[in-house]
Amino acid sequence: MSHSTQTIHDKEFEIFIDEPTIQKRIEEIAGQINQDYAGRHPLFLCILNGAFMFASDLIKYLKFFPEISFIKVASYQGLGSTGQIKSLIGLHEEISGRDVVIIEDIIDSGLTIESILKQLKDKKAKSIRLASLLFKPDAFKGSYTVDYKGFEIPNAFVVGYGMDYDGIGRNLPDIYQLKA
Ligand code: IMP
Ligand code: MG
Repeated sequence: MSHSTQTIHDKEFEIFIDEPTIQKRIEEIAGQINQDYAGRHPLFLCILNGAFMFASDLIKYLKFFPEISFIKVASYQGLGSTGQIKSLIGLHEEISGRDVVIIEDIIDSGLTIESILKQLKDKKAKSIRLASLLFKPDAFKGSYTVDYKGFEIPNAFVVGYGMDYDGIGRNLPDIYQLKA
């Protein structure tokens, strides 16, 4: 499935970050996380669907024993002026007093994670850190920092390595970018 271009639905994508580059970077990030959490048992929260591949590769490099859980974010129109409120689905673990590490595929506007952070704080997490494979600084509107960042990328749509375009493309081992 590794080609220099991919046609997905009606759009042409070109290779952007190849599999060896992704894997090398994930190993580096895991090295940082191993230093920070040595001997501890944090709760890793993988944000479905997009982050499943990143989470799966990342956790294999960890030298401690995290608890690992998977949550989904559902958007619905809120009544307040903020518009979108995002509820967490599948979070059954006790958060109070725990060290939490959020695993995300990509942070674009940052609003999804903003909402998740707020809810985890409300549940009295002891500490919260954030790992995201990709980060689009030009789109970011959040006020938090990304503790473990894979790659900063320009503001263009990407697909592959867990990320989809209209439902497909998640199985690609490389990351592709929409052709200009
Ligand atoms: P945010 O709330 O704007 O930061 O967007 C977060 C979510 O939108 C991510 O978790 C992705 O699932 C999705 N997303 C944002 N940008 C892209 C992209 O370029 N390709 C695929 N999915 C994306
Ligand atoms: Mg996502």
